[in-house]
Amino acid sequence: MYLKELTLKGFKSFASATTLRFEPGITAVVGPNGSGKSNIVDALTWVMGEQGAKNLRGTSMEDVIFAGTSSRPALGRAQVSLTIDNTDRVLDIDYTEVTISRTMFRGGGSAYEINGTPCRLLDIQELLSDTGLGSHMHVIVGQGRLDRILHADPAGHRAFIEEAAGILKHRKRKERALRK
Ligand code: ATP
Ligand code: MG
Repeated sequence: MYLKELTLKGFKSFASATTLRFEPGITAVVGPNGSGKSNIVDALTWVMGEQGAKNLRGTSMEDVIFAGTSSRPALGRAQVSLTIDNTDRVLDIDYTEVTISRTMFRGGGSAYEINGTPCRLLDIQELLSDTGLGSHMHVIVGQGRLDRILHADPAGHRAFIEEAAGILKHRKRKERALRK
């Protein structure tokens, strides 16, 4: 499994549709300060289901929508699509390529899709949640994130470990079941 392609449209500083193609192996993104490198990482975490504005370096979830510049008006929606190579079927879905996409509208409303079919955020989170295991481990460590891990309280440390071990999904399912 590897990330193949990422398309951003109206996401943070990427007002026009921008597609990045990745090859297996290591990809390096280089550029001057403020040119949008971290925004690309934010787009990855966002399309994979991130729900915390802080983790996206904003104060509200709407901060991911292109806010406009002196030469370009703000946009009404942000959209990110991520295509994952699934030839090895690490993702529990019978497709060699899986495209997940997330759209958010200014003023409210979101849409999620897996291979073009509308789905729930939960479906995307569940599809990806157990893929961070063992040799297939893929985690995102953003700027400042190491500090947050090192300085977390014991409950925070536990949450990080549960997430990495794939336990968090089951705990969340249990909590949802108990609420019903
Ligand atoms: P550094 O090397 O300093 O880490 P970087 O390449 O990681 O820089 P980013 O943090 O990805 O830079 O990009 C920051 C830029 O993105 C800023 O210019 C900021 O104004 C812009 N930006 C962030 N959110 C939005 C938004 N919603 N609309 C328009 N521009 C945005
Ligand atoms: Mg950065």
